[in-house]
Amino acid sequence: MNNRLDVINVAEGIDVIDSGYYSRDFAAIYLLRQNNKVAIIETGTNYSIPAIESALIKYGLSFSDVSYVIPTHVHLDHAGGAGELMRRCVNARLVVHPRGARHLIDPSKLTAGAMAVYGEKKFKEYYGEIIPIDVARVIEAADNFVLDFQGRELKFIDTPGHARHHFCVWDKSTKSMFTGDTFGISYRDLDHQGDIYILPSTSPVQFDPEALIQSINRIMEFKPERVCLTHFSAIKPDTKVVNQLIESVRFVSDLAIKHADKDDAESFIYKDMMNYFLKGLNEIGFRNNKFAEDRLSLDVQINTQGLIYWHKNS
Ligand SMILES: [Zn+2]
Repeated sequence: MNNRLDVINVAEGIDVIDSGYYSRDFAAIYLLRQNNKVAIIETGTNYSIPAIESALIKYGLSFSDVSYVIPTHVHLDHAGGAGELMRRCVNARLVVHPRGARHLIDPSKLTAGAMAVYGEKKFKEYYGEIIPIDVARVIEAADNFVLDFQGRELKFIDTPGHARHHFCVWDKSTKSMFTGDTFGISYRDLDHQGDIYILPSTSPVQFDPEALIQSINRIMEFKPERVCLTHFSAIKPDTKVVNQLIESVRFVSDLAIKHADKDDAESFIYKDMMNYFLKGLNEIGFRNNKFAEDRLSLDVQINTQGLIYWHKNS
């Protein structure tokens, strides 16, 4: 767990904190403040609760001032702490994609799925116990659902591709889009002199490249001034960034097609994907390959698993 608290303001009434999940500045949590009420986008895990509490205290607020808890989708680095957070935030409603709602109301399937991947010991270490949420407190946000958060309009758009239970959240007043994993992954410590490198997230088991590209294009129709990535923090989605992301979705899905039938498909895909990302980083001037490889190893590993699953099942 992290004992460091950096609250970084990215736009008016929008702060980002580190959930502490996995490694430093790996998974973000966003706090939106409006009239001294709070909406929390992404929850991190149960172990992220103290960081959220400290950020609230910094603004003279507490869990009782939280009106909404909004995971973009139900993968556990985004929603693992939702139940425990809802237990603390007694006045809050949970806003979730209609396809994700039942898994947070009854997390037994989510828990079983993640335990199968990580084993019981690692699961407990990463996530603790996933707490169910009372159905009466749950709002299901279908495509184009609009939430009036203290006069601030939040619009929910259905964005399949990374997962079918994924929405993005449009904050009209600041022209910010909260993109979860739909708009990929880009770490601030891999930036080079203002240039950024972005890569897609193709985790198991619902990756769908064509749907993902459509969702990225739909996000861009809003002309966002910033996209608030969960991995990690806010970036400006200029044409170069968008093209790089879409090209990269195509490249990695082609890798799956190229290697999936080989005996050692996983290591071929991993190696080619990592080299492609390192080459992209070198092109923006980021040349510390060792650091980048460490930083991206978990993402490349999960991406590889998602690509193999997609290729087998599509
Ligand atoms: Zn995800």
